[in-house]
Order: sequence, then C-alpha cells, then structure tokens
Amino acid sequence: MLAIGTELIVGETRDTNSGELARSLAEAGVDVAWISALPDRLETVTSALRAAVAAADVVITTGGLGPTPDDLTREAIAEACGEEPAVDPELVAWLRHLFERRGVPFPETNVKQAWLIPSATPIPNDRGTAPGWWVDRADGGVVVALPGPPAEMRPMWQEWITPRLKKRGLGQERATRTYRLTGIGESAVADRLGERMLRAENPIVATYARADAVDVRISAASEPRRPAASLLARTEALVLAAVGEYVWGYDNDTWSEVLGRELAEKNWDAALVEVGTGGSAARLLGEAAWLKAAREIAAGEPGAELPLAGLARQAGRSAGAWIGLAVRAVENGEDTQVELAAVGPWGVTETSETAFLGGSEGRRRAGVAAASYLHRILRAANPAR
Ligand code: AMP
Ligand code: MG
Repeated sequence: MLAIGTELIVGETRDTNSGELARSLAEAGVDVAWISALPDRLETVTSALRAAVAAADVVITTGGLGPTPDDLTREAIAEACGEEPAVDPELVAWLRHLFERRGVPFPETNVKQAWLIPSATPIPNDRGTAPGWWVDRADGGVVVALPGPPAEMRPMWQEWITPRLKKRGLGQERATRTYRLTGIGESAVADRLGERMLRAENPIVATYARADAVDVRISAASEPRRPAASLLARTEALVLAAVGEYVWGYDNDTWSEVLGRELAEKNWDAALVEVGTGGSAARLLGEAAWLKAAREIAAGEPGAELPLAGLARQAGRSAGAWIGLAVRAVENGEDTQVELAAVGPWGVTETSETAFLGGSEGRRRAGVAAASYLHRILRAANPAR
C-alpha cells in the first residue's frame, strides 16, 4: 500500500487512507505486506511501485491523482508498467461535462485526469474529478490507484473495488476474537501468554494497550484441512486458561454495554457520583440507559471530602436507582489514589487502589477503575455467567 503526497511526509496531513484500507483488507483475510508514505516525486514513487509490484499481488495507491503537475501517480504507474498514457475520449467527455454543468471553463491541466494506459480500466468517481485506475498487471496481479480525499477514495473502494477483488478470490477465510481485559497490565498479559504464542504465525495473537482495556486479539487463517474456526477455538482455550480471570468483554464490547448486560440480568440500574476525576467515569459509560444519573464533584467543592459510601448511597437514593456507585481520585505522588464505593441490594462495598500516573491520565484511569469495580460486583452477583 502506497500513500502518495508530500503533505503526508511533512506531517501536514495524516495518512488515514492506508489504515482504513488495511483494516478492510485484514477483515477480508488479506495480509498487508507493508504501507509506505511517499513524496510527490516521480522517481521515488516509480521505484516504490516497482518494489511493491514485485512483492505483492495487489498494490493500492492513494493520492497523487489531482490535476496539478505535482500529482504524479499516473505517470509513475505508466512508467513502472512500461506503458504510455493517452487521453481516453470517454473520460475527457465526462470531465468536460462536469465543468459545463457548473458553468466553469475546462482547464486544460485537467486533461491528465482523463488519461489511461492500455492495461488500465477507469474507476468511476462520483464525488470528484479524479477517476481511479484498476490496472491488470502482466503477471496477473493488480494495481489500484485511488484519489487522496477520503470522501472520494472510500466509496470507490467499497462499491467498486472490493467486489472485484472478492470475485478474484482475494483473501482467505479468517476467524478472529478479541478478549478485553482489566486489572492487569499489557506486559503481564504478554508474560502469561508466553513468547511462543505471541510469535506464532497462525493464529496470530497480539496484545494492545487501549484506553479502556488491554486487548488480546486472536486471528486465525484457514489452512488445508484446518478451518480457521477450529484453529481459533484451540488458541482461545489457551488464552482463557492464561488470562481468563481478567476478561470483561469481547470484540467490540464497551464498558457501558457489558455493564448494561450484567445489570439487565437482575433488572438493576445505577447512579454515579465521581469526585476529582474530571468526569472520566461518566465519559466512559456514555449515555447508557441504565445510568440514571451521573454527578461530578470537583476536588475542593462541598461534598468532596464526605465518606464515599455515603456519597454512593445518596446518589442511588436521589436517582431512585438500585445501585449507587462512587469514585474519588486523589493525586498521590506521581500516581493517583482511587477510592471506590458501591451501595446496592447486597449492602455496602468499599475498596481503594492505586492507578498508574497522576494528572489527567490518572483521572482517566480512575474512570476505568470505577467501571471495572462495578463489573466485579455484578459478576459476583451473577455467578452463573
Ligand atoms: P490527491 O489530489 O489525489 O493527491 O489528494 C489530495 C488530498 O487528499 C490531500 O489534500 C489530502 O487532504 C487528502 N489525502 C491525500 N492522501 C491522503 C491520505 N493518505 N490520508 C488521508 N488524506 C489524504
Ligand atoms: Mg496530492
């Protein structure tokens, strides 16, 4: 995958296109060999294209399809394929019509957007003046060139290119599963999973430290006589044996959804009060239907020093909720002391823990700690799950 445009390598524009396309390819079970960002420089783009064509069945470029002289992707593809570009009569008629429609004279510089090489098929662009190129390579592979603006590139990818790549049998059957963990750090997770599992090629097991969880993602590809699903299931069992006790969710689960499911089992709802967290718990839990009220007390405001169980009880009572949850974050040296209390049908529970780092990062972690604490309590109350 090549992202083309000088703006990308001077840090003016982020290359979001490649990440988006990579995600879509990964979902289709395609291995992405590499992603590069390149300047608008003919030699650089041409040699990168040659290397990519030699290494991959499908090469995808975004950017460099504009009308101006610095947009050189067409020239580079023509050069790398050893073909001459020529103006396509249908494309140039379409372009002229676009300008007529707006009552604007047709700038001759735009003619190059009507170029094709003999092995290229134009990819229609309903949202701009730059058609893409689908190039059938002599070696049976494909080069796909897409315009840089995400709003143009995206529908062309989804509506035109993806179905054609699928028809060609691109990708392999894959099965993936993500476990979302709390209460354990990424390196401890990696220790428990072990180097052998983390270095294996199939299934691929990877850990990700995210804001709301440490994720363990397992991705299996079908092999002859070994379907992806069964390869996945075997590794899932190993992962669960190693870190199962820390799992709070799966795949795209959010805290709010998972807590909502646990609460629904008991027909319970909750109210939240947070002190000194900057509202991080409410932000994490979002506009969940089960969260009847969320109140924030800034450190130093009246009430901030009250016993936490009392704050939790009051929050539950005044919202008419089954559960009152309270969290207080207090900076302690370089870290954050997090106090937690919950009042519900089981009675009163309280605990306290240390969150890594102070400041806004510590406050953010206090919000996660509150969600995690409520989850622990609900799990204990729903032992069947
Ligand atoms: P183009 O004329 O095809 O080179 O595309 C130009 C515009 O598309 C740039 O001004 C960027 O705003 C946007 N763009 C180009 N490449 C990317 C990329 N890889 N990711 C996100 N936006 C991009
Ligand atoms: Mg450009």
